[in-house]
Amino acid sequence: MSSPQFKVTYRGVRGSIPTPLLASEIEEKVTRILETVTPDDLKDMASRKAFIQNLPIHLKGCFGGNSACVQVEAGGHLIIFDAGTGLRILGLDLLDKGFGQGEGEGHLFLSHTHWDHIMGLPFFVPFYRKGNRFKIYGAHPDLRDRLMNQQSPPHFPVPFTSYEADVEVVEIRDMECVELGPVRVTWKAMAHPGVSYTYRVEYEGKSVVYSTDAEYKRLEPEDLAPTVEFFRDADLLIFDSQYTFVEGIEKEDWGHSSTFIGVDLAVAANVKRLAFFHHEPTYTDTKLMSVFGQTKKYLKAIAPGNPLELMISCEGKTVDLMAD
Ligand SMILES: [Zn+2]
Ligand SMILES: [Zn+2]
Repeated sequence: MSSPQFKVTYRGVRGSIPTPLLASEIEEKVTRILETVTPDDLKDMASRKAFIQNLPIHLKGCFGGNSACVQVEAGGHLIIFDAGTGLRILGLDLLDKGFGQGEGEGHLFLSHTHWDHIMGLPFFVPFYRKGNRFKIYGAHPDLRDRLMNQQSPPHFPVPFTSYEADVEVVEIRDMECVELGPVRVTWKAMAHPGVSYTYRVEYEGKSVVYSTDAEYKRLEPEDLAPTVEFFRDADLLIFDSQYTFVEGIEKEDWGHSSTFIGVDLAVAANVKRLAFFHHEPTYTDTKLMSVFGQTKKYLKAIAPGNPLELMISCEGKTVDLMAD
């Protein structure tokens, strides 16, 4: 029997609106790379490759501009969180994994139905292959109508009812959990305009929490306790950290959080890895790195020696929860 598999892959990490890299940002990256290169780095193909290999991700690549979508592979099940434009990339990747032949099955959980979390749906190619089977879960009322509206003629030419695959919409509001064999998914309502839902997946003693689009206006321990309990001992917490701490205070009621609050919650909940997610669309990769640097210092200051691992969610990157 093969060993259990539990992997998380970021497909879309940007918040609010898809954010393609600008030419000016590419120019800045190239300029900064050229400032560090030495004649030795350029002497042959091997040295050039090594030079590029060793460059930091924010210079040789980017964290990503697609809106929210996270792929979880657990116990042979495909679980997807949110259907932002990152879903399109995931769909293309799935085509040679049975979904191109109509033999695929997937479970898509929606945090809420703001545009940036559903606009990838009509571009998900596996929906157009007969034989594939999908369930779309959400705790909001009238979930199917909301998805139909996005694809109604004034907004989009291809209706939600035109999918060839079997796509079932499941409202989970009155359910306690969704069980896919030994994989268990639970959820919690969070403060966000129109309410959003945070999800937790448990499998083989490991867990990942997907918590996007959530605001924490009251920071007293008793206010945060239910959230801390939901995050408790997670191996990976994917966390809405759209703003800096100061912006989070300025943008009260906009429904988002910051890296510092993520650190506070993750430390309180004994989380193992904290991945910053739903990146602010006006932030360049350099800015994200700068906020990340300040956040590492903040963790050191409030919890010296705490082994919490911090990471910036990056499109295409995978975290293997069974690797340790
Ligand atoms: Zn969002
Ligand atoms: Zn939202």
